Amino acid sequence: MRSFELLYGEGKTVDLCLSAFSYEEHGKKVITLNANNEPIISKVETYYKYLGRDLSDTIGDELLLEKAIRYNEKGFSAIFVDNAHLLSVNDVEQLFLISLIYNIRVVCYTNRVDTEGAIRCWELANIIKRVDASNGRNSDDVTFIYGAMDSCKTSSLLIKADVLERRKGKQIITIKPKLDRTEEYIKSRVGIKRKADLVIDNTKPLTIPNLKGLDTILVDEAQFLSPDIIESLTEKCKTNGIHIIFYGLKSDFRTQSFPGSKKLFLLSDQLIKLDTVCGCTNFVEFNARTVNDRYVYEGDQFVVDNGGEIAYHSLCANCYVRDVWRLPINDHKALVKRYM
Ligand SMILES: [Zn+2]
Repeated sequence: MRSFELLYGEGKTVDLCLSAFSYEEHGKKVITLNANNEPIISKVETYYKYLGRDLSDTIGDELLLEKAIRYNEKGFSAIFVDNAHLLSVNDVEQLFLISLIYNIRVVCYTNRVDTEGAIRCWELANIIKRVDASNGRNSDDVTFIYGAMDSCKTSSLLIKADVLERRKGKQIITIKPKLDRTEEYIKSRVGIKRKADLVIDNTKPLTIPNLKGLDTILVDEAQFLSPDIIESLTEKCKTNGIHIIFYGLKSDFRTQSFPGSKKLFLLSDQLIKLDTVCGCTNFVEFNARTVNDRYVYEGDQFVVDNGGEIAYHSLCANCYVRDVWRLPINDHKALVKRYM
């Protein structure tokens, strides 16, 4: 199965070396790359030398999509990229397309930093995992549960609220951002709803009454909160020992992260994806917008589904690349031209 992965956390280079080794143990060929083209060397010392790998190839001398033709012909199964946060947007998009077109597994080892490479990996990855060499010593206070449209984010929030409050006797509050259309209810399309305890206005300083005794805060539509509000919310929770769970979209109809989602990618202790299925039965990765039933790739990030000419759809990567990007994925020459 196609897979374009982002791995972050402690011990990434060791994980890369061990994963590549395990592929080779099973007779499979892998490509190892480093965004800075330096040899891959971990901090783990073995038999007087550090665990590491020689690079199979370099980045920047030739389009990755062209290299991939050769990788595919020679039967490579996976590409591991160290320091992927140093990649350009163009390189990340090509790696994503390689995973899609050639069925080669691409794993990007990335620091969670605000670079174009790290953010583009976050936006396009279908699997996002923490490498955890610290054996679970990480805190799980701040959680971001993300998904495309129709992935039941709001109903998951409402069910979680009910379980925590009614069955476990926990003190919780629910929050939602103030939008033009905001009413005071958190409403799921499956029919359940609950009154929001707090509606947050991005343009005003954050105040939360009665933090004392709170166990958990649940936030709906977190992608619409400003990065500043998200930062002060998480700070308040960390200092008061409150668990906070944000629910929201990862990206907009152009596969670009919302400012709020980007902030949550950078600071959450846990990132959890909710899945849903595309019309073709693949898992959904992206949201798409139609205007008068035609897919569009231009327009403002914030336009609400108005029940009229504008509508939103959730699509798998294949359908998105074919219908929205309209990329000639079977015509290699034309595809390479687009990335020159
Ligand atoms: Zn599909």
